[in-house]
Parts: sequence; C-alpha cells; structure tokens
Amino acid sequence: MGLLYLGTPLAWEEASKYADHVREHGIAQFLHIWNRVKDRHGDELLWGDEVEYMVIVFDNETKNAKLSLRQTEILAQLSRIVSDLEDDTPDSVSIPTFHPEYGRYMLESTPGSPYTGSIQDLLSVESNMRYRRLLARKHLKPNEVPITFTSFPRLGAPGIFSEPYSSPEHANSSHSLFLPEEITNPHARFPTLTANIRTRRRSKVAINLPIFIDERTPRPFVDPTIPWHRSIYPEDVEAKDGAALIDHIYMDAMGFGMGCCCLQLTFQSCNVDEARRMYDALIPVGPIMLALTAASPIWRGYLADVDCRWNVIAGSVDDRTAEERGLAPLKDSRHVIPKSRYDSVDLYLSTEWNNKPAYNDTDVPYNEEIYNRLVKNGIDELLSKHMAHIFIRDPLVIFSETIDQDDETSNDHFENLQSTNWQTLRFKPPPPNSPIGWRVEFRSMEVQLTDFENAAFAVFVVLLSRAILAFGLNFYIPISKVDENMGRAQKRDAVRTEKFIFRKNVLPPGYQSPTINTPSSSGACSPVDWNGVAPQKERRMRNCFPRVARPSVLVDNPVEDEYEEMSMEEIFTGKDSGFPGLLGLVEAYIETLDVKPSEKQQIEKYLDLVRRRANGSLQTPATWIRRFVRSHPSYKFDSVVSQEMNYDLMVAVDELERGVLHVPELLPEDYSRPHVNGLHESKFEP
Ligand code: ADP
Ligand code: MG
Ligand code: MG
Ligand code: MG
Ligand code: MG
Ligand code: MG
Repeated sequence: MGLLYLGTPLAWEEASKYADHVREHGIAQFLHIWNRVKDRHGDELLWGDEVEYMVIVFDNETKNAKLSLRQTEILAQLSRIVSDLEDDTPDSVSIPTFHPEYGRYMLESTPGSPYTGSIQDLLSVESNMRYRRLLARKHLKPNEVPITFTSFPRLGAPGIFSEPYSSPEHANSSHSLFLPEEITNPHARFPTLTANIRTRRRSKVAINLPIFIDERTPRPFVDPTIPWHRSIYPEDVEAKDGAALIDHIYMDAMGFGMGCCCLQLTFQSCNVDEARRMYDALIPVGPIMLALTAASPIWRGYLADVDCRWNVIAGSVDDRTAEERGLAPLKDSRHVIPKSRYDSVDLYLSTEWNNKPAYNDTDVPYNEEIYNRLVKNGIDELLSKHMAHIFIRDPLVIFSETIDQDDETSNDHFENLQSTNWQTLRFKPPPPNSPIGWRVEFRSMEVQLTDFENAAFAVFVVLLSRAILAFGLNFYIPISKVDENMGRAQKRDAVRTEKFIFRKNVLPPGYQSPTINTPSSSGACSPVDWNGVAPQKERRMRNCFPRVARPSVLVDNPVEDEYEEMSMEEIFTGKDSGFPGLLGLVEAYIETLDVKPSEKQQIEKYLDLVRRRANGSLQTPATWIRRFVRSHPSYKFDSVVSQEMNYDLMVAVDELERGVLHVPELLPEDYSRPHVNGLHESKFEP
C-alpha cells in the first residue's frame, strides 16, 4: 500500500467535489516528474518482491483457525525488533520491512533494500523470504502463525472467523451482510476507501463466483447462509433484489478481495523506454502466471468453481455507477467504463515498431482534456492515453489537510489515482526527490504456501524479464486476447484443462528457436551484465539461437496469424514448430551468464517447479486445497468447507511450510529447505 497519511478523510459527498482538483493537480505533478526524469538513464536492475501473509490464531480446543486482528500491535512490535536489528547487524545484511495491508489480519514484507541483478542476490531470495517469515513468526503469540494463503476459506462464513470476534451488524463502512467493520485496517484510509466505493457506486459491490457443484450440492443452490431478510442498512435488500445469484457464492464487501494475499515483483529499468518495453512484454505473461500460481478455490465457506482471486478483487473495489457499467443510459456519469479499476492492463505502452496499433484493440475510455494537455506538453500519444485512461477514475480518499499541494515537489495527487488503478502490471514513474528510477510492477501472481515456491516464481519471472531485454523478445498479442486469457486463467484446474492464446514467434526476425531440450552453444557466450545493454545483444542472440536467412522483405503478417492457442505445457516448454517456450528462453538466457554449477543447480530447482506445474505433474495450491477438502473425512460432498476442515487445512499448511508435512504432489522432497543465510534463528528469540 502507499504511504499512510494521518489526517481527516472526506466522506464521498465532500470528496467528490475535489475530484477535478485532484485530477488537475495530479497531472501537473506527473508533468513535473516527467520533465525531470524523461531522459533519466543508466539505472541498474534493482528489483524486489512483496509477500503478503495472513496471521492465523489456532484455537485447539474448539478446533477453529481464525484470523488474528492484531495487525497494529504486531507491526509495532516488528518495527521495534527491526530497529534493534538495524543497530547491531552488519550493514551488509538487509533488514526486512513489514507493511500494513487492507485486512487487519494481514502483513506484507519486502526485503529491506532491493536486490541487485547478481546471481548471488537471485539465489538469496528464498532465504530472504524465509528470514522475513521467521522474524514475523517469532514475534507472534505462541498460537499465532503467519501463513501465505491467498484467500481465507471462512472469511465471511457463519460462526467465528476472527479473533476477537465481532459482528457484521456494525459494518459501518461496507454495510456487509458478512464482514464486520473490524476486519479492515483501522487506519482512516481503509474504512473511507470502503465506504466511498459503496457510496460512489450507489450500492454495495456484488461479487458472484460460481459454486463448485459437487455430488450432493443442493440444486438450485440458494445460499442458506445469506441473511436474506436482515434490515439494518438500506443496502440489506440488495441480496434478495437480485445482487445474489443462485448457484453462486455471493460476496458484498471490499474485504473479500482486498483481504487476499498475493506475490508481487517490482523491477527497475535503465530508462523509461526500457520500462515501457518490459511493461508490454509482461502483459501477456500476467494471466499465464496467474493460472500457474492459482491458490484460492474456497470463498465464504464454499468450494468455488474458480481457482483464483482476480475477479473477486476486481469486483470488490468496483466503484463504477450503473451508468458507467453500461446498465443505464449515461446521465450523471461521464463515460461507460468496461472494467473495474482493479483489472488487467488496457493499453500497451511501448513506442517501438513492434508494438502495432492493432494490439491495443479494446475500448479504452480516457479523459480527453487530460490527454490533450499531456500531448501539448510533449508526451507521446500512447503514454498520454495511458495516463488519461487512469485519470477517468475519481480519487476515492482525500484528506482535508492535503488538498493543496506543491505540485513541483509532491506526487500525492498523482499517486492518489495511480495507486488506486490496480492492474496486472503497474508502470511506476520515479518518485520526486528520490534515487529510484522507472519501474514496472508485476502483480498477477497468487501467493504460494511456501517460500520455496514464492522464491521459485520470483526467480523465474526475474530471469524471464532479463531474457526479454537480452534477446529483444516479442510477446505481443492483442489486449482482447490477454483479457480472454485472464478469464481462462481463473477457471478450475485451468493449467491442465485450458488453452491460452500466445504468440507463435517471439524471437526477433531472422532468428530461429533452439530445438527443445537441446542445450544451446554454452560457454561461447560472454557473461552478460544484467542491464541488458544493447551492443551485446546481437552476439548473445547469435550464440543462443541459430540464425536463419533473414527474409529480404519482412512480411507483415496479419495480427490474427501471429498467435495461436497453446497448452500451458507448450507455453512453458515449447513446441516442435520452433516456439522455444518461456523456460527455453530462460534457459537460453542462463547459458549466456557466468553461473557456477552449484548456482545453476539451485536455479534449476526453481525452474523445475515451474516446469512441473506447467506440465501438470505437480498440483497448483488450488488443486491441492480442493482435494484436501474433498478427501476430508467430514466433507459431505455438498461444497461446504466447515470450521473443522478449515482448521485441519490451516494446520496442514503451517506444517507444510515448516517442512513437517510432506506433500510430494505439491513439493517434491528433494526441494531442500536451505538455512537462512548467515543469520542464526536464536538471535531473534523474543
Ligand atoms: P507497493 O506496495 O507500492 O507496490 P512496496 O514498497 O511495498 O510498493 O514494494 C516495492 C518493492 O520494490 C519492494 O520489493 C522493494 O524492495 C522494491 N524496490 C525498492 N526500490 C526499488 C528500486 N529502485 N527498483 C526496483 N525495486 C525496488
Ligand atoms: Mg501489498
Ligand atoms: Mg507493498
Ligand atoms: Mg504501496
Ligand atoms: Mg546496521
Ligand atoms: Mg505492490
């Protein structure tokens, strides 16, 4: 989350009066940033991950696993620990940072300082993540555990799912039928965001996930746990007036989505053009990695027919009015807006030749006034449109103390809109007065149950990002196809049953893919500096991919011929037609590096996890969780995930992470648990 200001947040009616003010000054702030940093060049590859946890309290007597709402105390405690550590730890050790998140049971951790592009740093990610988890774990109560679990199975289900218990009857911000006020981080920003989304939309958010129809699921499924006739808040009638669909799991509050945990990565680029290239290349990768990391098959106490969180979060912050959603003719609202402010990317951004206009093929409303202003100030049409699109939204949280800002030095109004457009990728300009450069954030992945997996997916995406720059890879497919893939990615068992649209030829013209599983001419390549500097590219390409006669005329194929449907296995391991697969590309890239055999072995373990997820020989967390429930002795094959099943699942997840429980269909035993590098656990005893 962004910086948390202390101040007086405005209720929607007041805040909405300042929407144009915030937009106007937000763009002024962006222009100041742009003018300062548009030519900034030479930033190194720095990168970092964000891992989110939920804190579980085990009540072994009642066999209940609940969400601990002690975020404030836990974060205060961790920040004391961290500052003590900083005093007596060598400077070479990076002390992690813990951040608050939307859910009052959530924590987020990041490495204390970003990693560099070195292989040593790449291989320290897993121990860094373990160290962070260990720090959190050691400073919780004995019956509390931080778990990396995407969606808490019984959030909003009947009974007691939080510690302490509180009733949804006082959900002042969300007016939810299911989630109490206390589930939300108490900082003014979060309840205000929740209430203002509801007020702006003029109804509660409404999320309906298809329920997983099991052998004894009642049909039609009309959810008996919805308090259909409650009458506390005016919105209580919405459920029975059509918001809650039959055969679906209905959810009505921001907490259902923003209370989910994920795994994010941020990469710094050497300049803005490289950041735009990287942003574009990772857009089609977003849904692929979402499917591969699928980890959230249970919602509000029911098995769902989906495996991922994405649509839940998109729905949970969907502040569009009925007019904006296209359900009523435009009267009070300015635009019909096809997507929630939390959704997949709408526009490719690169100005390079291979970003054909035909790829940006969806309806992307934008603020024309802002667009014209940006263009008039010398910003190219694509970036102007991107910003003018982000700025069709209203700012949701405005603090009365910070309405007037110095646009030359502040980026608050800009960030107000930038950081509440939650897309699969985020294009991050450098903050004012900071050493930080242009960055791209990769946001689609679900958090994994163990740090081995979290590190493996982080390492894979980092290596892929390096390969993209080093080889000049082209992953473009139309945005409408990326959106199609987002839908497919979330379906139950998508990795094994769905095909995904992917680009057939990803290499620059004139290069042929290496044959699958044939190691490329290793050794011949010079080590690469990780900044992907251009002059070396040609040599690297020649060494890794055989050169074919370059066609004398480059035929510009119709866009429809550039992509095809592929299985997940094909996308990752390649096709006989010459498509090398994402793993083939990463492996070819590794061949260009100076990597010691022991380092290579460790990287191979991570890539092996990715490969085995993709070919279906290992399960996604979602599949494993679903099977855990369906083989639980008390499961009645009616889609219901009871308190007891939830407890047993949470115990299993904790044991799995600690290496007590072995689940070879999820994590083969030879994926070792290395120790936290050079840091002794005993040092952190409470
Ligand atoms: P947000 O919540 O806005 O996405 P966070 O501060 O939680 O941002 O996380 C940012 C991530 O970016 C962290 O992993 C951090 O290590 C990393 N990071 C920090 N500085 C840089 C930088 N200059 N380049 C790349 N990554 C960075
Ligand atoms: Mg976060
Ligand atoms: Mg963060
Ligand atoms: Mg943030
Ligand atoms: Mg120090
Ligand atoms: Mg982030």
